[in-house]
Amino acid sequence: MAILRFKAVELAQNREPIKVKLPSGKVSDYFGVNVFGMEAMRATMSNDAFKKLSQAIETGQTIDVELADAAAAAMKSWAMAKGATHYTHWFQPLTGTTAEKHDAFFDIVGPGEVLEKFKGDALIRQEPDASSFPSGGLRATFEARGYTAWDPSSPAFLMELGEGKTLCIPTVFVSYTGESLDYKTPLLKAIHVVDQAATAVCELFDKDVKRVIATLGPEQEYFLVDKALYNARPDLVMAGRTVFGHAPAKGQQLEDHYFGSIPSRVRAFMVDFEQEAVKLGIPVRTRHNEVAPSQFEVAPTFEELNLAVDHNTLLMDVMEEVAERHHFKVLFHEKPFAGLNGTGKHNNWSLGTDTGKNLLSPSSKPKENLQFLTFFVNTVKAVYDNADMLRASIASAGNDYRLGANEAPPAIISVFIGEQMTAVLKELEENANVKIEKGENLYMKLGIDKIPPILLDNTDRNRTSPFAFTGNKFEFRAVGGSSTCASPMTILNLIVADQLNQFRADVDKEMNKEPKKEVAIINVLRRYIKAAKPILFEGDNYSEAWAKEADKRGLPNVKSTPLALDFLVTKKALAMYEKYNMMSKEEAHARHEVMLESFIKKVQIESRVMGDLALNHIVPVAIAYQNKLIANIKGLKDLGIETDSFKTISETIKTISQHISIIQTQVDAMTEARKEANNIEDARARAIAYDEKVKAPYFEKIRYSVDKLELIIDDEEWPLVKYREMLLLR
Ligand code: ADP
Ligand code: MG
Repeated sequence: MAILRFKAVELAQNREPIKVKLPSGKVSDYFGVNVFGMEAMRATMSNDAFKKLSQAIETGQTIDVELADAAAAAMKSWAMAKGATHYTHWFQPLTGTTAEKHDAFFDIVGPGEVLEKFKGDALIRQEPDASSFPSGGLRATFEARGYTAWDPSSPAFLMELGEGKTLCIPTVFVSYTGESLDYKTPLLKAIHVVDQAATAVCELFDKDVKRVIATLGPEQEYFLVDKALYNARPDLVMAGRTVFGHAPAKGQQLEDHYFGSIPSRVRAFMVDFEQEAVKLGIPVRTRHNEVAPSQFEVAPTFEELNLAVDHNTLLMDVMEEVAERHHFKVLFHEKPFAGLNGTGKHNNWSLGTDTGKNLLSPSSKPKENLQFLTFFVNTVKAVYDNADMLRASIASAGNDYRLGANEAPPAIISVFIGEQMTAVLKELEENANVKIEKGENLYMKLGIDKIPPILLDNTDRNRTSPFAFTGNKFEFRAVGGSSTCASPMTILNLIVADQLNQFRADVDKEMNKEPKKEVAIINVLRRYIKAAKPILFEGDNYSEAWAKEADKRGLPNVKSTPLALDFLVTKKALAMYEKYNMMSKEEAHARHEVMLESFIKKVQIESRVMGDLALNHIVPVAIAYQNKLIANIKGLKDLGIETDSFKTISETIKTISQHISIIQTQVDAMTEARKEANNIEDARARAIAYDEKVKAPYFEKIRYSVDKLELIIDDEEWPLVKYREMLLLR
């Protein structure tokens, strides 16, 4: 094993940056060339068909067979002209990754005879052999097999990474009886309900608004590890994170990596995956180091939510593929390395109108500011009322290691709004029962005439907050690095939609008493501010004091996934899904079960890897080293050297013995605990057992002893690639 380690280190050290050839010096020359977007559509379809299709896409109308046939033909000729031989329905099953099933455009059915396979019906509907995708008993309950259905609102694209070139068609994945089996279906529904609710609220301010579009800009963090080093760490390979490893002498204490220059191998990788992303129409933009060594970030410019979610998922795939060329492995896991920053995916979210206005951007015009305040306060209220659901939407085995660790937001959901907005809300709240006399400036009297439109320059952004207002958008920072944005975004948009509907109703009611619309709006907002105030927190979210304070305020603080997931199936949550026709009770429970099973599997794998590494890799090496020391003492004794002079060596032998004994007994006990947990029928109870009886009592304990041994045992013999070797990339 140690031999493997040194071979890997040598390989990694001798690698040179891979040369990257860009298609052109100008990004605009190749942006979106692999996307079947509007331009490609226009070029390959008849005028009439193009008009119909683009309109259907814009308005979300259903597409008839004739139009689907035309679209399929156009897509096929476009893709084949670019060298594609296959097509696939691309979808996002509940495993959290993407899935595809490749089909050739044609089948050879006889000499000189081909069967045209890609027609409108193949575009619209496919039956993947999806029996292995998790569905939480849904398929059993509902008999149905699943099928994938074209989502025309996200454009088809050409994947040229990996083998061959394939036309990928974004789809939803549903059962024949209509239950959703993926992340996209509920997301599309949430996007629709927030559009309707927000448009109805916009009516109060601006009759021109016909549609509201949710937007997302996800900042993706990641670690890079050399491929050879990665392969020499079975825990990384199997669990995506290191279960052992002592912090290096030089970690992130100096924070010098953050502003440091990007190593040349990494830079080449970035340039390469960025060009592939750009070809796929993903507007990647920023590129920089993160705080931890070997940690980086990529952020695209924000886009329409559904597209942004697809793009983030696709970007992760692209990064993994391109990393191969550069002999890297990309880690998206929330906590791959103990003692270093974890990996998050900040979800920057806002609502924009079809007239081009960002509804969460303050303006210099007082009237527009009332609209801004409306959306701002309603979002805060939605988060307050449904902090539990938001918490659940980001729950995963990986994120459990990150949330509440000292660099990541805690499991308590609160909202940071900054000094200026705090002052604005305070004034609004206190300025009760305003009477507007004729000729008076309403906005001035209400104190909202001069919200500075430069909140963007907020330098006091609170990096510890899980949900922060950052000037013209909210940033949901608690989302885990490996998770899909679909889950938190579905919940966020759903709860905001529900809140906006409530608001519209409250304003209509208020106007019975207070005919002046603006004053009625203010009155309702004021009540909301009062009610939602406990969710606002500007201080240090990492502090012990905040946990206490949050408890007093009644904010949920659930630290583990199996318990947090309960919030997705409360009476309140189920009622909300039903109200917006998002999913049935059965579907919600089925999803809940899928997530519990996923949690269980992950903890189970980690526990197994841990046991295997500890007993088969670490303990034998520790014993061998111990024997060396014993032999050494014997030799010293034979020479007649005084016992006193090798006291430290015998101490070391004792320490090694103690750690070995701890490791062996704890691994045995952990294995027993796993067996007991496996016997539990109920998924929730089993997940809790895995969390409380397998993970909590043993993981840290075993790790502690292994990491101590790493410090004692001869570096030449240590079998696992060390942190410093994995992390300090040149
Ligand atoms: P940070 O300082 O947090 O890194 P940036 O200015 O780099 O912030 O922006 C982060 C992300 O926020 C980018 O992806 C950006 O496109 C996105 N963003 C900006 N405006 C909006 C908006 N209106 N809706 C959604 N995302 C937005
Ligand atoms: Mg950010």
